[in-house]
Amino acid sequence: MAKIIDGKAIAQSLRDSVKVQIEDMRKVSPTFTPKLSIIQVGDREDSSVYVNMKRKAAKEVGMDFELFHLPTSITQFELVDKVHQLNNDPKVHGILVQLPLPDHLDDREVTEAIDPKKDVDGFHAINIGHLSKRASEPAFIPCTPKGIIELIKSTGVSMSGKKAVVVGRSDIVGTPVASLLTKNNCTVTICHSKTVNLPQIVKTAEILVVAIGSPEFVKGEWVKDGAVVIDVGTNAVEDKTKKSGFRLVGDVEYAEAAKVASHITPVPGGVGPMTVGMLVENTFLSALRFYKESFNR
Ligand code: NDP
Repeated sequence: MAKIIDGKAIAQSLRDSVKVQIEDMRKVSPTFTPKLSIIQVGDREDSSVYVNMKRKAAKEVGMDFELFHLPTSITQFELVDKVHQLNNDPKVHGILVQLPLPDHLDDREVTEAIDPKKDVDGFHAINIGHLSKRASEPAFIPCTPKGIIELIKSTGVSMSGKKAVVVGRSDIVGTPVASLLTKNNCTVTICHSKTVNLPQIVKTAEILVVAIGSPEFVKGEWVKDGAVVIDVGTNAVEDKTKKSGFRLVGDVEYAEAAKVASHITPVPGGVGPMTVGMLVENTFLSALRFYKESFNR
């Protein structure tokens, strides 16, 4: 049976470490306070759940947190203006616009309006561009892909020279995680909805990352013996035995895959907690960078 990669515990130690680093900085500079500002538009229930998790994590590590909860009726101009205000606020080190936005708003334009130096989600084209370049580093690595790499590192399995397969090519998970795996010297294949012979390609993966949003789509029998399996998918499926009426499952058929993999992430409790952990780490790193820059002016 595969070893379970405990994302919850790894994310907790990451938050503990950020907390200690903030406390240490305060010994040197008592006013040092990283601040994360989130803009949420509308009242999507899932967005509110994610925003609350981010608020909780920020508070836990000793950061300032501010939420701008804006009505769905807001215009594109007003939203971009809000982003500019936060760009120009020296107390703010991290800006995140909770996606998805309502249909009448252009999320690409809003994402590009964020100052790349405060883009703690790492979605700005400048940061994504640096992530993709061989000899350059972005100001911020997107949180979920960054968390995935930490989970792989936690297994002790070396990435260098390994055959990695990423299923899913979204801008927020699949494509940036493929860039990071390449930076870590994996040989990477990216698959998507038009890929032919997906099971055969998955079978070649020594490291498998799946982010498609389809419950238990990747079957256990597709998984190579001894593979490290990272399941990003978070899908609610009906379950009458639960009080809520549903349970969360990943994109991988967990029970079967765990019989052949060497390491596997559970859902929930795998990738999810790492995403929030990396957000507070990115915000701390941003505050530290602004602090250091203030001495060079
Ligand atoms: P998107 O919908 O943006 O992208 C899905 C990708 O999967 C696309 O590239 C799509 O291909 C591909 N795909 C869809 N169906 C198939 C298929 N049958 N075979 C092969 N490829 C397929 O999803 P996200 O990347 O945003 O999210 C993916 C999953 O990860 C979701 O369950 C989401 O909830 C979860 N997630 C979890 C996070 C966490 O912190 N735990 C964070 C972010 C996401 P194509 O490009 O051809 O359309």
